[in-house]
This record gives sequence, structure tokens and C-alpha cells, in this order.
Amino acid sequence: MTTVDDKSVVKEYFNATGFDRWRRIYGDGEVNKVQLDIRIGHQQTIDTVLDWLKADDNLNHLTICDAGCGVGSLSIPLAEAGAKVEASDISEKMVGEAKERAESETLKGSLNLSVQDLESLRGQYHTVICLDVLIHYPQNQADAMISHLCSLSESRVILSFAPKTCFYSLLKKIGSLFPGPSKTTRAYLHKEADVIAILEKNGFQIQRQAMTKTRFYFSRILEATRSAS
Ligand code: SAM
Repeated sequence: MTTVDDKSVVKEYFNATGFDRWRRIYGDGEVNKVQLDIRIGHQQTIDTVLDWLKADDNLNHLTICDAGCGVGSLSIPLAEAGAKVEASDISEKMVGEAKERAESETLKGSLNLSVQDLESLRGQYHTVICLDVLIHYPQNQADAMISHLCSLSESRVILSFAPKTCFYSLLKKIGSLFPGPSKTTRAYLHKEADVIAILEKNGFQIQRQAMTKTRFYFSRILEATRSAS
């Protein structure tokens, strides 16, 4: 599959069945058991990143790029906590939902939401974050995406991805990972060593790491900062 194919399939999915599915998972309404498990796991990933950033106690001074922001699960609480957030997503439906969820006077001026694929993002941000997006792309495309995200970052990159281990590869093969009728996009696992190698090649070093693991949701979270030159 070419780059264009993967990206357009993902974009189409998140503007159609994927939008309905993920808007529900990332919401608080009724969902089935599997979706509830994924909702809980995803919230743990969001909470881990929020805890890291709040612990540094400098959110008021940070510009943050949230690439592939979905419905704003991270962008909205970050802006509420005082950061200046540029959030974007390839899916206009996801961005539309994020805008509805961010409908609040207090966020005006601190949260900007736009429809953009992360490869076309420009500018410089203190921190660049990309959660649970790389799963939609094979390693060679993920490499280019991570390098691009690094080029946008003055200081720090935070990524999450589904780790490629023997165990998760087997789960994926037998179909119990990412279950449900609307799993119409391919799910790619990434070797942690490959992700770290790309970050290091771009001048970043791992600082904090975490793993979220529920029954159906697996996400490795890495924080990397620019090495002193
Ligand atoms: N990061 C959000 C979160 O954790 O709540 C959303 C995660 S959701 C599983 C993946 C999101 O990535 C979708 O909203 C999708 O539209 C977006 N996406 C996929 N490929 C993208 C790309 N190339 N550029 C920007 N967004 C992309």
C-alpha cells in the first residue's frame, strides 16, 4: 500500500464509521463491553500524559501541538490547565466534534482546532504530542511522521503507539486485538526500539515512559526531549 492509500483510507474511516465508533468510545454514553474497556484504557493514556505535564508545573508557559487530536480528549484539558494548544486532525468530523466539546468561553484564545494531516503541519512548539495515531500507519510511514513531528518541536515530543511484541503480534493475528465490526482500518504494531531509534536520530532522548494495558487496549507512551547540543 502506498502512503496516499493508507492516509486516504484512514481519513475516510474517521469521517464515516470510524467517527461514530470513536466518538462513542471517547464519550461518556453507553457502549458495549469491549468499547468500555478501550475507553478506560485510552483515558489512562490521557491521564498519564496530563499527570506528566502538570507535574512539571509550567503549562501556562507552554505551546503544545496535539497532532491527530481526535475529539480533543487531551487538547481540551491541556488548554483548560493553561497551555496554549494547537490541535489538528485529518478528519473534519473529529475536529467538528472537538469544537463542540470545547464550546466554552474559557478556552477562547488557548485552543485552536483545525483540519490538517500531521505531515502538513508547520511551525514550532515547545511540546509536540501525538497519541494513538501511529497505529494507523506501517513503520516506514511512521518513521517519516515521527521525524516530521520532531522537526516541529523545540523541546519535547510525546508519542503513544501499540508496541510490537511477540504477545501482541499473536493477539493481533488471532483477532482479539482491536475487535468489533467497524475495525475497518489496519492496525499496525511498532517496535519500541524502532521508535526510539527514530527519536534519537532526530536528536531526542527518552525521559519518561509508561504503558497502558487493559484487555483490548495497549499503548506504549514515550516522552523524549531534545538532547543538549
Ligand atoms: N489522539 C487522539 C486521542 O488520543 O484521543 C485521537 C486518537 S484516534 C485513535 C486517531 C486519530 O488520528 C483520528 O482522529 C484520526 O483522524 C487521526 N489521524 C489519522 N491519521 C492522521 C494524520 N496523518 N494526520 C492527522 N491526524 C490523523
